[in-house]
Amino acid sequence: MPQTPQRASSDQPTPPWHSLSADAVCERLGSGRQGLSREEAALRLQRHGANTLPEARVRPAWKRLLVQFNNALILFLLTAGAIAGALGQFVDAGVIFGVVLINAIIGFVQEGRAEQALAGLRAMLAPSARVMRDGVRATLPVAQLVPGDIVLLEAGDRVPADLRLLHARGLLIDEAVLTGESVAAQKHTDTVPEDAALGDRAGMAWSGTLVAAGRTTGIVVETGSRTQIGHISTLLGEVEALATPLLVKIGRFGRQFTAVAILVSALLLLFAVLARGYDWIDAFMLVVALAVGVVPESLPAVITITLAIGVRRMAARHAIVRRLPAVETLGSTTVICSDKTGTLTRNEMTARRVISRAGTLLAEGTGYAPHGALQLPEGQAGLAPAAQQLIRCGLLCNDAVLRQRDDQWQIDGDPMEGALIALAAKAGIDHAQTREHWPRLDAIPFDAGWRYMATLHRDPERGGAVLLLKGAPEQVLALCNRQLDAEGQPQPLDQAGWDAAIAQAAEAGERMLGFALKHLPEAPSPLGFDDIGGLCFLGVVGFIDPPRPEAIQAVEDCRSAGIAVKMITGDHAATASAIAQQLHIAEQPLVVTGQDLDHIDDAALPELAQQASVFARTSPEHKLRVVQALQSRGHVVAMTGDGVNDAPSLKRADVGIAMGNKGTEAAKEAAQIVLADDNFASIVAAVNEGRTVYDNIRKVIAWTVPTNGGEALAIIAALVFSLTLPMTPAQILWINMVLTVTLGLALAFEPAEPGVMLRPPRAPQAPLISPFMVWRIAVVSLLFTAGAFGIYAWAMARGHEVALARTMVVNTFCVMEIFYLFNVRFLHMRSFTLRGIQGTPAVLWAVAAVVLAQLAFTYLPLMHTLFDSRPVALTDGLLIVAVGILLFTVLELEKWLLRRLDWFEELRTQMRP
Ligand code: ATP
Repeated sequence: MPQTPQRASSDQPTPPWHSLSADAVCERLGSGRQGLSREEAALRLQRHGANTLPEARVRPAWKRLLVQFNNALILFLLTAGAIAGALGQFVDAGVIFGVVLINAIIGFVQEGRAEQALAGLRAMLAPSARVMRDGVRATLPVAQLVPGDIVLLEAGDRVPADLRLLHARGLLIDEAVLTGESVAAQKHTDTVPEDAALGDRAGMAWSGTLVAAGRTTGIVVETGSRTQIGHISTLLGEVEALATPLLVKIGRFGRQFTAVAILVSALLLLFAVLARGYDWIDAFMLVVALAVGVVPESLPAVITITLAIGVRRMAARHAIVRRLPAVETLGSTTVICSDKTGTLTRNEMTARRVISRAGTLLAEGTGYAPHGALQLPEGQAGLAPAAQQLIRCGLLCNDAVLRQRDDQWQIDGDPMEGALIALAAKAGIDHAQTREHWPRLDAIPFDAGWRYMATLHRDPERGGAVLLLKGAPEQVLALCNRQLDAEGQPQPLDQAGWDAAIAQAAEAGERMLGFALKHLPEAPSPLGFDDIGGLCFLGVVGFIDPPRPEAIQAVEDCRSAGIAVKMITGDHAATASAIAQQLHIAEQPLVVTGQDLDHIDDAALPELAQQASVFARTSPEHKLRVVQALQSRGHVVAMTGDGVNDAPSLKRADVGIAMGNKGTEAAKEAAQIVLADDNFASIVAAVNEGRTVYDNIRKVIAWTVPTNGGEALAIIAALVFSLTLPMTPAQILWINMVLTVTLGLALAFEPAEPGVMLRPPRAPQAPLISPFMVWRIAVVSLLFTAGAFGIYAWAMARGHEVALARTMVVNTFCVMEIFYLFNVRFLHMRSFTLRGIQGTPAVLWAVAAVVLAQLAFTYLPLMHTLFDSRPVALTDGLLIVAVGILLFTVLELEKWLLRRLDWFEELRTQMRP
């Protein structure tokens, strides 16, 4: 039973950790290479607390509320309200303050929700660490680490706590977060002098730093705020600002618009007083009401919430957004470059074919269950020595652990290695006994750069040591000069024979691994790359890794959405090509290999990158070149990645997508989106949501702008043509207050239109307000003005008093806006459908709220006093509703015309969003 550590204070021990040998640190912390027991870890967790840093301070609520008022228009409104109050216009002043307050509250609440949604996403990305507990490897949330835990790290991992290194091979750690040093520090396990500077303590790995290369094992010495990073004040996980290029653009547009509106209002004020003989106070109130009416003050808040809803919907579909701009970029993505293994395929490997000089044997069974027979080559009664040695090599040159949990066989580690353990069991080779019999002395871990892994073992049969190696077959063959014959004796290498066998299995879509060994009289220490060479080839194993069924559908969806899919994989060209065909990425895919890429210059690459649909045997550097080449052709590229070396291409891509399960921390941090389920279909779901968000933003604008425009036009027309005003300033303010809060916001919740994945991607430079939108805005503004004046004229003709006519105009505006909302819900399609009329809960709630508010406005005596409104008779009310229906019909006709007429069709393609 390990002892408890001797100290738990935040002070460095004397002597400090880095000056103690690894063994001394283990002893001091009462731990060893087997790790802590679960009970002991639980006790220590209680004593030391969770391994977390204090949360970055969130903006206090009052600050967030105050920020809502820090906006040119709001300040203008507040000034106007104060002046109105001073002039004794209490109703107008009250309504202005009401508008400001309601807007601030909405902005405050929605922004809070958006921030919460982002914070929730951060929690979903909580990192985990591989540790030894009770002598077995386990994956735990980083927060549960305690001093004394033994942690295993490899390239791409973020160091989860302060560690004293116990074992390090080729270890480089990027400590820029802590020391500002951009060159990764070389680490080893030796002690360093007590007074060494932080950056020179080579035997330590600091929490928050990033493993750039190599592997290591370390013992946790400090956790939480007692770590070095905990001592410095810059906190991790700062709250991300709610800013995207679009929001910034809209903010700028809003400010310019406000300036113009104030200028025009001032001119109108002069015009009203000087040319039309208005009283100064009346003219002032009118102009203020106009400015409030015309400026879409709630737009930024509504757009922020639209984005936040998009982020939430993406998370529900397993795409976790790390950086908000990705939501916008996804909608215009034209190419998705995807990894194969685990993303397009299931990454559930089964070893199917074992090819050695003793012939080909087939393994039965699926998944990792170690059951199933081996079909031996004809005429063989038992496993030939060549096959036996090959399968044993697969078992020993292997880091995975196979476990049974509730009847389910699961692996911890690489799926191919898990499949090799299952294969060994099917061949009757005992896992634990073999590993014990052939103890491992050293290893060179797998790296996508050299595509093999090697282990060194003591050889109990011949004495000395044996080097075992497995990797991409052509890579392994290149390191061999002999092969093992059926009886297990070395003979000259038959390169051509193996090439043919590998090609045949790869064409069936099997993933291949080659195996080799070399006997050594003495174990080299440490094992180096110089020792690898002159090996004896054992044979190959073919694995099946079926395509994900949902990926096939997702590829199809991409095709109809005008998005090209390209597979970029480290796998063999023939395997990749076969899987691409099974996924229907292309009938006869053009395959480009990493070798081809090395021989092609940057000028010729863009054309090839555009044509090819499979890139095989690529390294992470190739990915970067492919992204750049595609971007040079104007493509908006989404690129997936998981390894530490994928970070540059993920950063360079327009949308970098990291794998949540198999991805390294380095890849996740470089990415804009993390896939919780590593699934290609989730990328396509995110594209769908991205397009929907953009549609909804356009709908919000398409609804808000003409609504404001209609009111403003009506007032300006009345002023210019010396007509009686169809609404009073207080009434304009009322319309604004009631509508901005309700109807516009409802559009943020719109689900995707059915045809969202049937259109080509949006051009990234396309303006938010396309010519089509300008046309729509102009038409609707004019129709609104006509509707308002029509009702006003009709009411006057019937002999109604002006106050009643104005009440009818206010109601007409609201009714038109409700009908227009239903029309705008489908920008491209018919709205007069069952689905269109039914609306969404958000739409129905909003409509109900507006109707209630309007009933109050029209029939409550208090409102009559405040707004000078009058009760409207039923027949007049029906007429108002009829105006709404008429507007809806006219706008549906317009959509129909745009869809039908050839002339318009051409125009519409030009005007396409
Ligand atoms: P993708 O890029 O689509 O995920 P991949 O998994 O094939 O494909 P890499 O991980 O770069 O890409 O692997 C490249 C090749 O290296 C594999 O095709 C395989 O032949 C070999 N390989 C992969 N994992 C191991 C391993 N653990 N040990 C030895 N060789 C391996």
